[in-house]
Amino acid sequence: MAQTPIRTPLERICKAETPARADVEDVLRREDERDCAELFAFADQVRRQYMGDGILLRGIVEFSNHCRNTCLYCGLHRNNHKLERYHLTAGQVLDSVSLIASQNIKTVVLQSGEDDDLDAGWLADLIAEVKSRHDLAVTLSVGEWPTEVYRMWRQAGADRYLLKIETSDPGLYAAHHPGMSFENRLRCLDDLEALGYQVGSGCLVGLRGQTAASLAGDIEFLAKRDFDMIGIGTFIPHPMTELGAQAVGNVRMTLKVLALTRIVTRDSHLPATTALGSIGPGDGRIPALQVGANVLMPSFTPLPYRRLYDIYPGKRCVTESPGSCAGCLESMVTGIGRFLDYSRGDSLKGRRCHALCELKSS
Ligand code: SF4
Repeated sequence: MAQTPIRTPLERICKAETPARADVEDVLRREDERDCAELFAFADQVRRQYMGDGILLRGIVEFSNHCRNTCLYCGLHRNNHKLERYHLTAGQVLDSVSLIASQNIKTVVLQSGEDDDLDAGWLADLIAEVKSRHDLAVTLSVGEWPTEVYRMWRQAGADRYLLKIETSDPGLYAAHHPGMSFENRLRCLDDLEALGYQVGSGCLVGLRGQTAASLAGDIEFLAKRDFDMIGIGTFIPHPMTELGAQAVGNVRMTLKVLALTRIVTRDSHLPATTALGSIGPGDGRIPALQVGANVLMPSFTPLPYRRLYDIYPGKRCVTESPGSCAGCLESMVTGIGRFLDYSRGDSLKGRRCHALCELKSS
């Protein structure tokens, strides 16, 4: 029997409040070049309609590569004893943040592993200092913490929080995150939302045992949670991990997941991830920007430390001096008919005000 045109499931997915998993899986399984081209063009049209042609910038400062966890895909896992570990001082972080502000970028992402030595009060003071010195949105990406800690950082001025689920399949999650709890991950995401953070999450494509069905489940999860920001990464094997001999995740499949995520979430901010940019002959961030992404996240981690934030090998831009990105990114995006948007790029979901007002008046 002839396959239905891809337009049929795409239109159903686009119109549905929550897309039918069978339709999403059908689209993910299609390999035909014309089908893929139609999916990508559809997603790009949704991106243009809801997000415009601007590409938002978020400057990242990776302030510690210590981690208590042993995620199977990550080179920062605690048993990688070959990795030289570092913590930036508050002064080093503030210098990097000043550089971000001087480039007219309006969001800083403070990122680290789940660092047992991280003093929550130290980070709260740092957030408050950043907010007092600069008119910047502060995004945190420091993993799972108790509710009270999330509250402390929010009250110190943090605006946003990134916590990727990586996979919404509890079995796959357990297999890739020894000693961690899927339920606690969900609890953290619930807490962050209740505290009025703009919340980001996302998935990894290419995990061992992952199928089109489980990726369709991820897209359904992302559609239901309607996150403000969503990162779709590609698995890249790190030789110092248990998955070191696995194949690199499929780039085409990553782009399909990204495109479908744009279609089902419409106005979430979706970065063209550095992982995608680090694979293949060209810069994979360009095709990502053409199938739904609208954000780039250049690193402002000081050079001696940047190569040590070694989540996966072959990471791009580990030797460029911090702050040299603007020209490079400018030419990348103008080459595809887009432009860099230097606004804050807050959530477009329009549902945070109530939680924020409650927090401020408490
Ligand atoms: S993915 Fe995050 S939590 Fe897991 S080992 Fe790496 S830095 Fe730690």
